[in-house]
Amino acid sequence: MKIFAANWKLHKNPKETREFFAEFLKQVSPVADREIVFFPSTICLEATSQSLSSSKIKWGAQNCYYEAKGAFTGETSAQTVKDLGGQSVLIGHSERRAIFTETDELIAKKVSFIQGLGLTPLLCLGETLAQREAGETLKVLSQQLQTGLSKADKTKSLVIAYEPVWAIGTGRIATSAQVQEAHAAVFQNIQKLGFSSATAILYGGSVKPENSKELLAIPHVDGFLVGGASLEVASFKAICQS
Ligand code: PEP
Repeated sequence: MKIFAANWKLHKNPKETREFFAEFLKQVSPVADREIVFFPSTICLEATSQSLSSSKIKWGAQNCYYEAKGAFTGETSAQTVKDLGGQSVLIGHSERRAIFTETDELIAKKVSFIQGLGLTPLLCLGETLAQREAGETLKVLSQQLQTGLSKADKTKSLVIAYEPVWAIGTGRIATSAQVQEAHAAVFQNIQKLGFSSATAILYGGSVKPENSKELLAIPHVDGFLVGGASLEVASFKAICQS
């Protein structure tokens, strides 16, 4: 199974969301061993739910809180994502970590809460350029996995995305050797922590139709988390078909 996930960040309004899906559904038919998941901004989730209700394409939120409801102004409820028919929540994206100061401890609570609802957390991790240059990449990945998954249920569904921070939105793509080393390390860490060896590990960071085929052939690359290139039907379709 390969997974192709689209992170739309804070792009598209509900009208643009509906227009995208009307076109995407015309052009892309789901294939048996390939899963497609969209992560639109929170305010576009209802338009997404309606657009994809009779399709096999999955969707989820880009973030959530670790409580279903209450006095948490500005947060997103994973329970509401579930009620609308969503299956997944993106957690620990580097922009959440860097701009909104999310820690591995907070991320762990969210992962556990999402799994408890029967949804799939898509946990993002990755090193900064400074950490890579200091030779700390594998240590950082191990730490992010150990703490981020410290409250996770090993029997429940989980997806990981390795996204080197310096490759996100920069057009600077990690080399095949760098991706291979990081994915092998994530795979080993997941096994060591007692999670299923079938846990999908996606790569993210400037994935484009031009590089997706080569990246997908790397061992333990089970799909992609795509930002910029997921905003246009043509480029995301090409990646999903790589
Ligand atoms: C992302 O937002 O997770 C991402 C990988 O973005 P981009 O594909 O634009 O680098």
